[in-house]
Amino acid sequence: MKKVSVQCENIKLSYGATEVLKDISLEIKPGEFFALLGPSGSGKSSLLRLIAGFNQQQAGRLLVDGKDIGSKAPWERNIGMVFQSYALWPHLSVWDNVAFGLVERKTPKDLIQSKVTAALEQVGLLGFAHRKPNQLSGGQQQRVALARTIVIEPQVLLLDEPLSNLDKTLRVQMRQELLSMQRRLGLTTIFVTHDQEEAMTTADRMAVLDQGVLQQVGTPTELYDDPVNPFVASFVGSMNFVESRVKGVRAGGLELSAPSLGDFLVQTAIHRRVEDRVQVSFRPQAIQICEPNQVNPEESIIFSGTVLSSEFLGQFTRYHLKAGDVDLVVDHPHRIGLKPFAENASVSLALKLSEVKLF
Ligand code: ADP
Ligand code: MG
Repeated sequence: MKKVSVQCENIKLSYGATEVLKDISLEIKPGEFFALLGPSGSGKSSLLRLIAGFNQQQAGRLLVDGKDIGSKAPWERNIGMVFQSYALWPHLSVWDNVAFGLVERKTPKDLIQSKVTAALEQVGLLGFAHRKPNQLSGGQQQRVALARTIVIEPQVLLLDEPLSNLDKTLRVQMRQELLSMQRRLGLTTIFVTHDQEEAMTTADRMAVLDQGVLQQVGTPTELYDDPVNPFVASFVGSMNFVESRVKGVRAGGLELSAPSLGDFLVQTAIHRRVEDRVQVSFRPQAIQICEPNQVNPEESIIFSGTVLSSEFLGQFTRYHLKAGDVDLVVDHPHRIGLKPFAENASVSLALKLSEVKLF
């Protein structure tokens, strides 16, 4: 099947006086697994429903495979959507649920037979065809919803938080299954989630949406390493923020001062004036807990902190620390035999300057 692109051009959507999508421009490439990430209420479902044809934008264009489909009804769009609630018919068997869209399209009987069989095979539910939805687990119901959508052979697959009703283990397993099915079928897919781990582990590229505004689009590593604003920085992974003041401006860098970190020089392209405020940010793994004489002060900011609490997570221990009046999260890699620092322990900290982002 031909792989198609999906383009949103300056799309605006309001419900009455409330604007929920504000000038969305976005291009999803043919065959891409694209994740749309954002907090609850940010407009993710509204955008998916708009692409599916259940919402009509007030401004902007929607193109699939380069063609404007804005005036087409949902059933004319060749787009399949899996809803968060699955929306299965409770009185119909798995087979009839999956066959439903084909029957509606007046597909010949023998073709229905072969297509439903193929779709159930794709999701590994061929043996469950006679069951009713309430005789299935959550994960199996989710697979029926998926089979019902792919059976009509859409060009675009829209998934609205399809895994959020499943328990953690199943969620992790199902996201890999979803991805391998998407690769098999070569289906351009938009996967909506509020879970950053789910987005990062599956997506070729992803977008972060907040309050109807597209914040950033890129690969998971691009968004993690180079977030455009503090919102993206803290929504994609954890981030520490420390308020600082500009002490001096140098060629290619800023001399900064923060009560908890002292004075330090950061190489940066951003322009600020003396006395301006700057947010210094860094990931939990950018800080080492160490002996002060073990680090090179040219490459790191060295300061001290106090342990508030710790969580042992296996690969690392996550410390909540106080440095001056600032709360920090620090991930310390674990090795066999390493004892965690106790509550109230004083520790020396080294923050790698190359890991610092300024906002
Ligand atoms: P998300 O899927 O990211 O949680 P939604 O797209 O469901 O966000 O909702 C975005 C905003 O639009 C929310 O403030 C929500 O309350 C509002 N909204 C959603 N659907 C409707 C509707 N049919 N009528 C009015 N407001 C709506
Ligand atoms: Mg939603």
